[in-house]
Amino acid sequence: MSNKHLEETAAKEETEYASFLDNKLRPSNWQDYVGQKAVKDNLKILIQAATERGVPPEHVLFYGPPGLGKTTLAHLVANETGRAIKITSGPAIEKVGDLASILTNLSAGDILFIDEIHRLNKTIEEVLYPAMESGVLDIIIGKGPSARTIQLELPPFTLLAATTRVAMISSPLRSRFSGGVFRLEFYSEEEIAEILRRSAKIIGVSIENDAEKEIAKRSRFTPRTANYFLKRARDFAQVKGKPLNLETVGLALKLLGIDELGLSPSDRRFLEVIADKFSGGPVGLSTLAAALSEEEATIEEFNEPYLLQLGLIERTSRGRTLTSHAYEHLGKTPPASFQKKLL
Ligand code: ADP
Repeated sequence: MSNKHLEETAAKEETEYASFLDNKLRPSNWQDYVGQKAVKDNLKILIQAATERGVPPEHVLFYGPPGLGKTTLAHLVANETGRAIKITSGPAIEKVGDLASILTNLSAGDILFIDEIHRLNKTIEEVLYPAMESGVLDIIIGKGPSARTIQLELPPFTLLAATTRVAMISSPLRSRFSGGVFRLEFYSEEEIAEILRRSAKIIGVSIENDAEKEIAKRSRFTPRTANYFLKRARDFAQVKGKPLNLETVGLALKLLGIDELGLSPSDRRFLEVIADKFSGGPVGLSTLAAALSEEEATIEEFNEPYLLQLGLIERTSRGRTLTSHAYEHLGKTPPASFQKKLL
C-alpha cells in the first residue's frame, strides 16, 4: 500500500471510529465539559436569562478547528435545557425545500443544530435569514409574473451552528447569530489530561500517569484526537499483552506515524514540501494544495491551525512561511535565502 493510501485509510478510519467513540465519550453536562471557560460562562448566562424570560435562547455560532467540542456543546445545551435537538449539516441541506421541511417540522423550543454551516448555499442561506430574525418562512409559490410569496409562521426555536471556516460565513448570516459568535480554543495539556482520565474510566482502562501526559502532549490540543490516541494505545497494549504505560503509548503513536510534537505524516509532508520545493516560502495556499495533492480546505482546517499554534509556520499576506523552529524539527538546514529573510 502506498503511503498516501495508508494515510487516507487511517483518516477514514479515524472519522468512523471517532463518530462511534464520540457518542460514548461525549460529555452531556457542564461539569464534564472540560475547559472553554469563556464560551461556557457566556452560554450559561444566555440560557439562564432566556429561561427566566420563558423564551428559547438566541441563536449561537461556534467556530474553530475540528474536534474541539462544537457538536458536543450543542448536545450539552439541549440536555441542560431539556430541549429536543434536531441535527443536520450544511451539505445535507441541498434545496430550499429541505430547509423548509426541517424548519416547519420543529416544535416550539426545539434546538436546531447545523454543522458545517459554511457549506450552505446562498439561496438557502437567504431563506434562513427571516427564519432566524423574525421566525417566519417566506415561500415562493409559482414562477414568473404569477409567482407570489406566502409567509409561514415558525415555532420559536434556537439555531446552534458550527463551522471550521468562519471566514466563509457571510456577514449577513453572522450578524443573525444574536446570541453570540464563539470561538473554541485549543485545550491546554492539563485539560486534555483531564479529558483522558474521564475517557479512560468510561472505556474501563487503567493508564499510567506519564503515559496519559504523553498522549496529552501529542494530541494537537484536541479532545477528539486525544480520545482516538487513547483507544489506539489501549488496543496496542492489549494485543501486546502489556500495560498501558509510557512505552506502549510511544510505540502505538509511532505506529500511527505521530511524532514527538504530535505531527501526523500529512503535517510533516506539508512542512517538507514548503522547505524542499519552495525554499521555506512564502507560498500561496492553492500552490501548496496542488503540490501536496491535497484539498485546500483540509490544509486550512486540519493542518494549519496546529502548525500555527506550535509556531512551525507563519501565515502572511504573501502566503505560508516556515519558521526556524520548523527547520529544526525537520532536521534540515534553512537555505541561504531563508537566513537573509530572517535578517
Ligand atoms: P467538533 O464538533 O468541534 O468537531 P466534537 O464536539 O464532535 O467536536 O468533539 C469530539 C469529541 O471530543 C467529543 O465526542 C468528546 O468526546 C470530546 N470532547 C470535545 N470537547 C470536550 C470537552 N470540552 N470536554 C471533554 N470532552 C470533549
